[in-house]
Amino acid sequence: MVRQVSDGGASADRNRRAQQGLTRLMVRDMRGLRRLITPSRLQATVPAWIEAVRALVDVYGSASVSLAADYYEAERVAAQVTGRFTVPLLNPPPEEQVDNGLRWATKDVWERNPDDPATTAAQLEPLEVRLEQAEKKAEAVAQKLVADQGRGVVREAVRQDRQAVAWARAAALGACAFCKLLATRGAVYKQDTADFRSHDGCHCGVVPVFRGQRFELSDHAREWERLYREFAAPHSGDQLRRFRRALADHGHMPVL
Ligand SMILES: [Zn+2]
Repeated sequence: MVRQVSDGGASADRNRRAQQGLTRLMVRDMRGLRRLITPSRLQATVPAWIEAVRALVDVYGSASVSLAADYYEAERVAAQVTGRFTVPLLNPPPEEQVDNGLRWATKDVWERNPDDPATTAAQLEPLEVRLEQAEKKAEAVAQKLVADQGRGVVREAVRQDRQAVAWARAAALGACAFCKLLATRGAVYKQDTADFRSHDGCHCGVVPVFRGQRFELSDHAREWERLYREFAAPHSGDQLRRFRRALADHGHMPVL
């Protein structure tokens, strides 16, 4: 029986990487869809592209859900808790949510009037640059839509499973300061109402904790916690920025 779980444990890490690999494949597929956009016919071709991306999000979203369900079941077996449990499979996000995200991502590709004071610098870039930016934003939007489904499954399972007591956030070594800070909170008990906050491009995982198990922060999360306490916590109002700097100063931020 696995008595101790950690945000940095082998299976948590494997799960996080599997989900990350899945969204990487999706991004590769998305790049293949780019040829659907004809720059001279944006009005006609961008909506077709949005539809194609939505179909990809559907396919990869259900793959993310199955991966997460398999992971949860394996963790439950390893914890040797009693009783049967069926992992609830969540519904995919509503079509409008996907469409709205992709419309937001492509909002700067449309031709604007340069004399209109509402026109931004990004909207006046050459079309290729605007398309490039839109593609990047759309990839990040789609990645979150897919990864949130897998994360949602684990959290919902924890909520429904009488043998599960808590969940924890597993952040990668290359995660942003925001995610690292949330990861230092460790096990969030299911009666707490804390939400799992993710952002575009976030690859954090959710680790379930079962009855009889003890949660322990990984060494790296403990070090992030120490940096936060020492360099950021006393500076109310400026904590995230201070934390980001402390992480960078101590070699805990990826070089961008
Ligand atoms: Zn994250």
